Amino acid sequence: MKVPYGRQSIEREDIEAVVNVLTSDFLTQGPTVQKFEEEFAKAVGAKYAVAFCNATAALHVGFKVLNKDIKKKVLATPITFAASSNCVLFENGQVEFVDVDPKTFNIDLNKVEEILKKNPGAYQGIIPVDFAGLPVDTEELRKIADRYNLWIMEDACHAIGGGFYDSKNQFIKCGSGVYSELTVFSFHPVKHIATGEGGMVTTNDEKSYKHLLKLRSHGIERNAELFAEPSHGGWYHEMQELGYNYRMSDINAALGLSQLKRLSVNIENRQRIAQKYKEYLQGSPIKRQEYDEKKFLNGYHLFVIQIEKRKELYDFLKENDIYSQVHYLPVYKHPYYQQNGYADTKLAHAESFYSKALSLPMYHGMTDGELEHVLKTLKKYESR
Ligand SMILES: *Cc1c(COP(=O)(O)O)cnc(C)c1O
Repeated sequence: MKVPYGRQSIEREDIEAVVNVLTSDFLTQGPTVQKFEEEFAKAVGAKYAVAFCNATAALHVGFKVLNKDIKKKVLATPITFAASSNCVLFENGQVEFVDVDPKTFNIDLNKVEEILKKNPGAYQGIIPVDFAGLPVDTEELRKIADRYNLWIMEDACHAIGGGFYDSKNQFIKCGSGVYSELTVFSFHPVKHIATGEGGMVTTNDEKSYKHLLKLRSHGIERNAELFAEPSHGGWYHEMQELGYNYRMSDINAALGLSQLKRLSVNIENRQRIAQKYKEYLQGSPIKRQEYDEKKFLNGYHLFVIQIEKRKELYDFLKENDIYSQVHYLPVYKHPYYQQNGYADTKLAHAESFYSKALSLPMYHGMTDGELEHVLKTLKKYESR
């Protein structure tokens, strides 16, 4: 029995949905992309959703839409996939990494405020990541951001289905845009919903929505009301700024739309698996993400533990055909970042986190047998 740390789950209805698109009039962006966007926006409680070819492209265009002044810095968490901060570097902007909270592994909001206090006016935005699926308290972050005139682009690639109760006791779904200008999701196969490759941005701001649409497709405008020049006729469209081809295809969207229907069972399964891990870890020296479980609903893309002898456990699991993974090396530790201005960055909690981090298997289609195998192997490891 081979157990990966994460994998997609494809069912017959997914295959049928994709096959149906193949015999339709549209292969690239068409009615299925639009339907996927509408259903996705509904699922997370946002006004608008824009689909992209992947979340990295979505982050890039998201940053372009929000960027106010490229000389002003963007705050980011180091415990994430590199794309979260790369999107700023694509535009030759500057990123400053902020240390993480040692309990939640999310960006430390107290540290964010300390940095802003020291140098107000030097920053323009922040890219928090809902790490492993645990939402950042964006209500608190919004207060800080408003004091220092920052935008928030929330990287929720781990956290579809997650959310938290705010101070008014309303449940804030990740992606609802109640406290963040833009929220970004990924449909890479290890994430909750697979489209092959794919990403989404959600927002409640109409102007940002239109700008995202335009940049996704070469910076070309087709709406006559928004032309800079008088129209030459029915064929006329104009390129108004430098954009990209970051479109999603209808083939990918059909898969996403079909997978989205199972989102709630997907989240329930992940909750159930997490519960088993938590029960197992009670009384074990192995640590996990700690947070107020009445306030936050963790979407559980990952189940991350902290263990002193991480490599030993990683190897032991592998010998037993369990393929755990490490998320993440602090982004600034990658050679590219080291060689480009981050050699002196040192964030104690992020580095300590990395030295002990391991992601245990967690995916929608995980069977009871697979979970049992992981739990038994952990027990075996701990009682050696
Ligand atoms: C997966 C992921 C991305 C990038 O997603 P792609 O769709 O593969 O481009 C960005 N940020 C985080 C936190 C991720 O986990």
